[in-house]
Amino acid sequence: MELLAIFRIEDIENDALQTAASIALLVLGVLYLSLIFWTFADARRRIDDPLLVMCATLASFFPFVGTIVYLIVRPPEYLDDVRLRELEMTAAEARLANLDYSLCPHCDYEIQSDYLRCPSCMRKLKERCYSCSKPIDPSWRICPFCEAETSAPSPATSTRRRRRQTTDQSTVAADIAKPEPEEAAAGSETSRRRRR
Ligand SMILES: [Zn+2]
Ligand SMILES: [Zn+2]
Repeated sequence: MELLAIFRIEDIENDALQTAASIALLVLGVLYLSLIFWTFADARRRIDDPLLVMCATLASFFPFVGTIVYLIVRPPEYLDDVRLRELEMTAAEARLANLDYSLCPHCDYEIQSDYLRCPSCMRKLKERCYSCSKPIDPSWRICPFCEAETSAPSPATSTRRRRRQTTDQSTVAADIAKPEPEEAAAGSETSRRRRR
C-alpha cells in the first residue's frame, strides 16, 4: 500500500512537471514563431533589398540567437524616415539654390538679384554702377563691388542739411570751415582700403 501511494504521488508529480514543461515549450514555441514574424516585419520596414529581408528572416529561424544577431546588425533607421530625410535635404538644397531669387516689388514676378529691370512689368529695379557697371540698388550709398560712391542721398547728409537750415548763418559757416569728423574718418577708411 505504502509503495503504491508513493508511486501515485510520483505519478502526480510527474504529471505536474510534464504539464509545466509542455506549457513552457508551448510558450517558447509561440515566442519563437512570433520572433520570426517580428524579424520579417521589422526587416521589411528597414531594408530595401527583398533578398536581405529573406536572409534576416531565415537567420531568425535559428532559435532566438538569429533575432539577437539581427537586432545588432539591422539598419538603424526605417526606410520611411530615410526617404523623408532625403526629401527634406532635397527641399533644403532647392531653397538654397533659389536664394538668388526674389519677387518683383511691383508685380511679384520672380526676379534674380542682378536684374536691372523686371521682365514682366518693365519697371526699373536696379541701377548700373557708373564705375564697374554691376547692378546696384538705387538706395545704396556706395557700390558694394567697387566702393565707388553713388548719387543716392545719404541719410546722414540729409539730416545735416536739415540741421543747417534751422541753425543761423554763423554756425553754418563754421560747419563748412572745419571738415566733418565723420567725413574725415570715412576718407581715411577708403584710402586705407584702397592701399590694401
Ligand atoms: Zn515687375
Ligand atoms: Zn561699382
